[in-house]
Amino acid sequence: MRVLLVGGGGREHAIGWKLRQSSRVDRLMSLPGNPGLAELGSVIEGIDLHNVGGVATMAGQLGVDLVVVGPEAPLAAGLVDALDRDKIPVWGPNRAAARLESSKKFAKEVMDRAGVATARWEAFTAEAPALAFLEANPAPYVVKADGLAAGKGVLVTEDREAAGDWVRRCLDGEFGPAGSTVVIEEYLDGPEVSVFALCAGTDVVGLEPARDYKRLLAGDEGPNTGGMGAFSPVSELPDGLVDDTIERVMKPVLATMAAEGSPYTGFLYAGLSLTSDGPRVLEFNCRLGDPETQVILPRMDTDLVDLIEAGVSGSLGTVTCDWSALAAVNVVLAARGYPDQRQAGDLIRLPTLDEGELVFHAGTSLEGKQLKTSGGRVLSAVGLGTSVEEARRRAYGLADRIKFPGKHYRSDIAS
Ligand code: AMP
Repeated sequence: MRVLLVGGGGREHAIGWKLRQSSRVDRLMSLPGNPGLAELGSVIEGIDLHNVGGVATMAGQLGVDLVVVGPEAPLAAGLVDALDRDKIPVWGPNRAAARLESSKKFAKEVMDRAGVATARWEAFTAEAPALAFLEANPAPYVVKADGLAAGKGVLVTEDREAAGDWVRRCLDGEFGPAGSTVVIEEYLDGPEVSVFALCAGTDVVGLEPARDYKRLLAGDEGPNTGGMGAFSPVSELPDGLVDDTIERVMKPVLATMAAEGSPYTGFLYAGLSLTSDGPRVLEFNCRLGDPETQVILPRMDTDLVDLIEAGVSGSLGTVTCDWSALAAVNVVLAARGYPDQRQAGDLIRLPTLDEGELVFHAGTSLEGKQLKTSGGRVLSAVGLGTSVEEARRRAYGLADRIKFPGKHYRSDIAS
């Protein structure tokens, strides 16, 4: 079959790599792809992912049998709706269902109706009542732009002035329409974990958990980033976390959405805070997490195409997912100056890979035959092994052999 993968980051390279393992896929195309994906199939350039009609037309012209969508923006822009209109099978939620990520207020309303544990909240479209609400509530304050803001719309602070300022910046348009509604919510205190699943209607197949590292520097120091590494499996999670999240969070939310006319199909990501009162939901994303995907999919023994096809055809409830006993660790190699003043254009030299090593591309581009840095998180070095410790040694050995000027990475992933 011919599969079109939409997206071009490290998550999509990992998804494309896994799809390509399937004996059923004889052609993988990616849009816009990246140099890593280009080694697995053809890449299609020159179409803006937000031009959902254009992407659907292209998918029709390419005669694809399945479209898999990686990132949230084209989902929120209605790519699945456009493909549905053209009767092209697609894996991902339509625009209405993707509101679970593209509107924090919508997600909160659904959770309340579904009886799912989350932080108490209020939404505001005007400054005065929002500021009064902050005044009436204790610190810490959690203030969120309602819509997609490239992960930059959330402020958690002890400082009421700063919280008020954030409200004003949202409402004044700093995040565009995404900030025209502001959600202020109760602060949840506890370690964060994410649970990922494939969902279709009310059927759910959970994925193995991974732990990621958001801060730039070892010891959880430095600024927040898109993620500097991850490992899987994670031994120190509460027993039954994935099953509990499926039963108590995902299934009630999916049932509520289906009953209200917005059934959900696609990957679903639940971000949880493990509070002293039990797990509570921080957020939903309608995609897989990055870099977690890069350690989860190499451990998946089941054919991802079989799972996705079951989801698309309404038989996800009849399939299960098998996992390898191997552990996986990935170390993200960042560009000079990342995250504040990242620089591009540095020449990359990749080593020959040994057994148990994988490289996923994110911020790379080809200039002629030369591979160069083109984004903040450039590449990810993945190690596989019979233990997390062995996988970690392989990942760091590989990270060291990949060369580009300004390369930097955390030294304590999975340690
Ligand atoms: P979100 O995009 O809603 O997940 O928020 C981004 C990050 O902000 C989360 O991963 C948490 O670290 C933090 N956060 C969000 N909501 C809360 C909350 N209610 N209490 C504490 N921290 C939060």
